[in-house]
Formats: sequence, structure tokens, C-alpha cells
Amino acid sequence: MVEIKNLHKSYDTGANSLHVLKGIDLQIGQGEIVSIMGSSGSGKSTLLNVIGILDSYDKGDYLLNGTLMRNLSEKQAAWYRNQMIGFVFQSFNLISFKNAMENVALPLYYQKVSRRKRNNIAMEYLDKMGLLPWATHMPNELSGGQKQRVAIARALIANPKIILADEPTGALDTQTSYEVMDLFQEINSAGITVIIVTHEKDISERTKRVIHLKDGIIDREYKPQINLQYA
Ligand code: ADP
Ligand code: MG
Repeated sequence: MVEIKNLHKSYDTGANSLHVLKGIDLQIGQGEIVSIMGSSGSGKSTLLNVIGILDSYDKGDYLLNGTLMRNLSEKQAAWYRNQMIGFVFQSFNLISFKNAMENVALPLYYQKVSRRKRNNIAMEYLDKMGLLPWATHMPNELSGGQKQRVAIARALIANPKIILADEPTGALDTQTSYEVMDLFQEINSAGITVIIVTHEKDISERTKRVIHLKDGIIDREYKPQINLQYA
């Protein structure tokens, strides 16, 4: 699903450039649930943004579902993103002046699905998240965990093959974090590839494979000790 070979990326910071990804080799198969771990500044978000075709890279190859992702126009990149990828962020990124249902329905609006139809589908996804009673509430009336479940419903509504989540539990308390991780496990059980960036060990241990980044390279990779609950 994700094939990365000797990938490098630098940021241009005016006078000098910052070499952030320094030769990443990584393969993630369809149906995997993995975490990308590492301390702040190690390049996790940069790598996730490349995987999500939100950002370009300088050297190496990135194939998504067998297709080389390089020199894409903004329109082509958007097309692949819409076909393939759902995003979840630490800060939820909900639109504050739209209610839960409208936020979930948003990707279908961009696909020009009629309002009635997209709202009906959004209600199904809210139902799956146990949020039906909250459909007409605005984001500021929801708890952190509820907001993240709305964001996850929004990420799922266009039937992505991959979910990319950047520190999805970073703004949540421990109990709520584990509930959100249970949800990612469930989503993965349905065959969707899930890639989660985190700097928290207990969160990474709720995936099946941990890819550890240090200073822009993968310095180690391991399977967390099998915990029966998550086997
Ligand atoms: P992480 O997510 O692991 O904390 P990032 O991938 O966000 O790390 O950042 C890696 C390095 O790249 C950091 O030193 C950060 O300051 C720098 N960086 C990230 N985004 C940009 C950008 N848009 N422009 C310049 N430097 C950036
Ligand atoms: Mg980050």
C-alpha cells in the first residue's frame, strides 16, 4: 500500500536548508495498523505529510497503491487524497460554524453529493460512532473525545483505503485516548490501513508495528509485546 525507498526531504528556511528526512525505507501493507514513533522534531509529521500527499519530497521514491507519487499537480494530488486517504489530526480540525453532521458530510460536499444524500450518510457514520444525539451540536458543545470521533467519522465517510492520524490522542486524557485507539483498531479490523503518529509509548503499543524515527531516519522497528486485548 505504502512503499518508500531512500526518501529524503529538506525544508528551505531562507538562508540554509533543513534536512529532515534522511533516507527513509518503509513498506506498509494493506490492512496493517502501525505507529510512527519518535521524539518531537524527529520528522514524524513530515513523513506522514509525504505519505498523505500533502507535501512533496526531494529524492527517492514513494509509491501509493503501486503508483509513483511524484511531480503531481495540486489537482492530481487532491484526486489521490480523495480516493485513498482519510486524515485525523490532534486538534480535530472541525469547522467551528458547522454542526457535527455537516462536518462529517464535508468530504461528500467536495464530491458534489447532494445535501440530502450526504447528510443522510453522515448520520449513518455518526450513528456508528455513537454520536447520533449530537448530530446538530456545534463543535464547541462537544467534548474532546466526541470531537475526535466526529473527525474520525469525517475521515471515513469517503471510504478511504488508508487513515493517517497525526497525534490523534495528543489533546485527550488517557481513558479517552484508549477509546479512540479502540476505534482505530475497529476501523483496521474492517481492512483499512491505519498509520498513527505519536510520541507516546502506550499509544504506539496499541498498534501492531512500531516504526521508530530518530533524526530523520528509521533507527529501529518492533512489534509491541502482544497484549491479548489487542492481539
Ligand atoms: P515531528 O512531527 O516528529 O515533531 P516534524 O516533522 O514536524 O517533526 O519536524 C521535523 C523538523 O522539521 C523540525 O525541526 C521542524 O522544526 C522542521 N519543520 C517542520 N515543518 C517545517 C516547515 N514547514 N518549514 C521549515 N521547517 C519545518
Ligand atoms: Mg509532529
